Formats: sequence, C-alpha cells, structure tokens
Amino acid sequence: MAQRPDRGEVATYIPELARIDAKSFGLVVIDADGHVAAAGDSEVPFSIQSISKVFTLTLALGMVGDRLWRRVGREPSGSPFNSIVQLEHERGIPRNPFINAGAIAVTDLILSGHQPREALGEIVRFMRFLADDSSITIDEAVAASEQRTGFRNIALANYMKSFGVLENSVDFALGVYFHHCAIAMSCRQLAMAGRFLAHHGRNPDTGLLVVQPERARRINAVMLTCGHYDGSGEFAYRVGLPGKSGVGGGILAIAPGKASIAVWAPGLDASGNSHLGRIALEMLTKKLGWSIFGV
Ligand code: GLU
Repeated sequence: MAQRPDRGEVATYIPELARIDAKSFGLVVIDADGHVAAAGDSEVPFSIQSISKVFTLTLALGMVGDRLWRRVGREPSGSPFNSIVQLEHERGIPRNPFINAGAIAVTDLILSGHQPREALGEIVRFMRFLADDSSITIDEAVAASEQRTGFRNIALANYMKSFGVLENSVDFALGVYFHHCAIAMSCRQLAMAGRFLAHHGRNPDTGLLVVQPERARRINAVMLTCGHYDGSGEFAYRVGLPGKSGVGGGILAIAPGKASIAVWAPGLDASGNSHLGRIALEMLTKKLGWSIFGV
C-alpha cells in the first residue's frame, strides 16, 4: 500500500486500482424528488467492487426469497472482508452477504440454473435498469486482474464448496463474482441505482416497485450492520446511515425517505473503507441531520 496518510491508502492488490489518482473525489446526493446535487469527479466511472454486493443480494433475494438466509448469515463479522477463520468455525456458512465469502455464496445462488454469462448479464442489466443508464459496463481489465490475483477468494470458495455451501463449480461462481466486482460506475450512476433503497423499495421517479418495502428495510439493516466490514460499527457511530463500501473507494449510503448518496475517494482506511468518503458522509449527515439515529 502506498503511504498517503491524509487521504488513506489506495488499494494496490491489482494494478488497475493502484494507478487511480488518490486525489480523486466525487459526491452525488439524489433526493426523493430526483434533484441531483453533484460535486467533484461525480461523472468519473470507478470500480464499484464490493458495493456490487448490495445489488447481487437484492437480485438473489428476488430469485430465491428468504431461502437465501439458509446459505448465508446476517450478523456483522468483526473480521476483515476476506477472512477465512470464521468460515471454519461456522462450517462454511458465511457470516453475512457482504464479506467476500458471503458474496460468493450469493453469487452462486444467482448462478444456479444459468450459464455464467447469463448470470452476469442479469446482474449488469439489473444495474443498468436501476441506474436508468445503459452505458454501465464491466471493466474487463479489472476483472482479469481480480481473477489472476484472487487466491484468497479462491480459497474461500473452495472451502465453502467442501462444506456443500456452493451449488455450482468454484470456477463459475468466482468468475461471476470477480466480474460483478469489476463493474465500473460513476457516483451519479451509483446514487441513481441506490434510490429504491431510500424510498421503500420503489423508484420514486417511475413509481416502479423494485422490491417490497419490507425487503428494502431489511437490506438497509444489513448494510448498516455489515456494510463496512470490521469498520461497520465505526461507520454507524460516525455517519449513522446504512452504507456499503468497496475497495475501489466508493461508498453508497442511504438516507431512508430522504436521499441516495454516493461518494468516491480512493484512499482507504485500515479496514479497507474510503477514508475521505466516510469523513464526507459524516460531515454531510451531521449538517443535514440525516443520521437515522437523529441529530
Ligand atoms: N474484489 C474484491 C475482493 O474480492 C472486493 C473487495 C472489496 O471491495 O472490499 O477482494
């Protein structure tokens, strides 16, 4: 990791992320009426990485319903995003859908009955539909690098497979997982895609129901408790909103009933969450009184 104490450290595990300018910063807030407030690099696509896990969870819940929770838990892990220790204790059942193991298990559910290409197409189409933007794509160079260097994820997937938690081949599940982590989106696209979570499962522009209100509430609950790995407590304490981070430096945060917010600042803190992104959200929620816990 390159030392940049004031901004955190840009992820360096793959060259595509290591090259990103640590000084990049973008922020977009979209309120219930569709007003967009944007600042900085708000139109620059970045690697959404683990933020994709919110959308694969939503998609998988739509496909298999609450049966999903037999395959993955919903408790905070208190462990790093790629920890294998907990999996051994819990006999291959990942703690929650947002740590890597959990997200791989969710991806496996989406994959069942499909070819990897179809499953991936489904995920990308879902992102485009939610963001109302057909230009969203996968950064193939990032996906290839993830695949080449993803030894820990390969270990996690094999470990789960040995417990019978994965239905599909490890290669297929990981192939789809690495590719959905490599989706590139701007803050504006991401904030658009998150709007249904801020408005009881509904896209407030079209009135279309993406998920039932109860499901949106529950996804938000998992984001609040598990969305920032072992930094989830700190994020809830400081920001007080459901949020999901990715190692690309993005955070999607939901102010229920009020707004969908996306921030991007690639420097990470020790838990792998955007350092300035979190600070920006903390300032924003404080100023606007948007914490779900009150002012
Ligand atoms: N693709 C990354 C991995 O699986 C995602 C991690 C993250 O964004 O936290 O290691």
